[in-house]
Amino acid sequence: MSPKNLELVGFDEMKLSPDVFAALQTVGYETPTPIQAKTIPHMIECKDLLGQARTGTGKTAAFALPLLSRINLKNRRPQVLVVTPTRELAIQVAQSFNDYGTNMKGLNVLAVYGGQSYGIQLSQLKRGVHVVVGTPGRLMDHMRRKTLCLDDLTGLVLDEADEMLQMGFIDDVEWILSKIPQFTQIALFSATMPAPIQKIAGKYLKDPEKVIIRHDSDATNTIHQKFLMIKNVKKSDALVRILEASSHDGVIVFARTRNDTMTLAKVLEEKGFKTEALNGDLAQAARERTVKRLKNRNIDILVATDVAARGLDVERISHVINYDIPSKTEPYIHRIGRTGRAGRTGEAILFVQPKEKWMLKRIEKATRLAVEEIALPSNREINEKRRNDFKNKISQTISTEDLTAFTHLVETTAKEQNLSISQVAAALAKMLQGETPFLLKEAADKPAVKKTAKKFEKKAKAAVLPKQKKAPVKHHQNKIAPAEKGMERFRIEVGYKHGLKPDDVVGAISNESGLESKFIGAINIDYDYSLVDLPFGMPKNIFNMLKRTWVRSQKMSISKYAC
Ligand code: AMP
Repeated sequence: MSPKNLELVGFDEMKLSPDVFAALQTVGYETPTPIQAKTIPHMIECKDLLGQARTGTGKTAAFALPLLSRINLKNRRPQVLVVTPTRELAIQVAQSFNDYGTNMKGLNVLAVYGGQSYGIQLSQLKRGVHVVVGTPGRLMDHMRRKTLCLDDLTGLVLDEADEMLQMGFIDDVEWILSKIPQFTQIALFSATMPAPIQKIAGKYLKDPEKVIIRHDSDATNTIHQKFLMIKNVKKSDALVRILEASSHDGVIVFARTRNDTMTLAKVLEEKGFKTEALNGDLAQAARERTVKRLKNRNIDILVATDVAARGLDVERISHVINYDIPSKTEPYIHRIGRTGRAGRTGEAILFVQPKEKWMLKRIEKATRLAVEEIALPSNREINEKRRNDFKNKISQTISTEDLTAFTHLVETTAKEQNLSISQVAAALAKMLQGETPFLLKEAADKPAVKKTAKKFEKKAKAAVLPKQKKAPVKHHQNKIAPAEKGMERFRIEVGYKHGLKPDDVVGAISNESGLESKFIGAINIDYDYSLVDLPFGMPKNIFNMLKRTWVRSQKMSISKYAC
């Protein structure tokens, strides 16, 4: 069959076993994805295979369907072995084998990975299993202890081989490959093909069929890649804005360290987003629970590290946000592969600081696609989104809930108090909203503020500039010098207990008030409050705006400081 014809082949022509073919209806697969169309016919013929494809392309079924099709259920010794870089992926792949083998009576699939007790794994291995899916270390342990016998192995898959290389497992993988029976069919899948992977393929695969899923047919085509240049804005504020303005379903935010995932998850939680952190500090069971909560819509956002989110397959991920840019291109490709799954489209947004532009260029080169620049959503856009969400929530509640009792109550309230229905509705909305303003100040207000700020600056310049060169920054002093001439002192209700740094104060005040940072005077940070000197005669509208400004997730609640 020519490659072109292969792409047109349906599941019914793939010589899958009747049980496996029947399972496709249960899982709802009608037509093969490109990788399945190109891979299954070779795999079913027992040929070795080298597949370059990303996650989200349907590659699990591409190897699981043909391998399951030839399992001899009567032989209870492992016939298929899949090696994965992470336990999450091992569990998912094992689950897929179970799904596709649902009609194979007596099929036993076992996931083995570090962190799980040996007891469960040993008793299952003793009872007999047909398919083993595992991470390299634990597989090697079982092989050494002779609790995993591979004498009857007919097929071996290395899944996400480049990830195994990245995680330092490549020697373990080679060790496993050197121990399997000589005529085992080997399939190696990898998103990228770095030299060490090619070397392994050259050494262990016998005249392999090569399958490359090109950009015009694989998952990256369904992922819109965008980037946001982070300039003069705090990253966490930018994240909140992006999330507020986007119509998202599930979101994964990638942060560099475990601590960052915790801090960021807290910030988002405080802003009302249902968020949890996913990192290596969590025990395996806790990680699985978190992923389940995302799947079940108990939470919408995961803030994760690369390692914790590897292989994660949740269909509802509409957005991947690369909060911290990765230092290599491979993790970027794996990160964005968490969205655009199962034929859906997804958005990948990358935060780039000016000094990280070079990495953006490398990413564009690696994905062979231009990453589109986006602007930080304006207050107007966010307000528009809030209004739309408000309206949608109302129509959704009307269409899904029984409102009889409330309708009656609203009508009688309006009648008794001589109110219009819209007055009652507005009162209810206000009750629901509480004291937090529903809308942000729109850009139309900004020029006025800027104008006042300019006047304020002019005044400040005349008063303080000759003396004031650079804002002195002092932390937690007991004795504080009086404010310099032309300046007055203000108190803000945020301190080092909240993680406040002088730059946060400068950033928040200059961003909100339009006052250039050079006019901001001494800053004294105390435990739960801070003092900041600002030019004398701050206009009322700027003062009111600063009162409502947030920094380090706290309202500044600025007030004039009386010593
Ligand atoms: P994978 O790349 O194996 O992680 O698969 C990505 C997603 O695509 C999974 O959610 C699969 O259930 C789904 N999938 C795989 N093959 C098909 C198919 N032929 N039709 C529809 N969905 C599929």
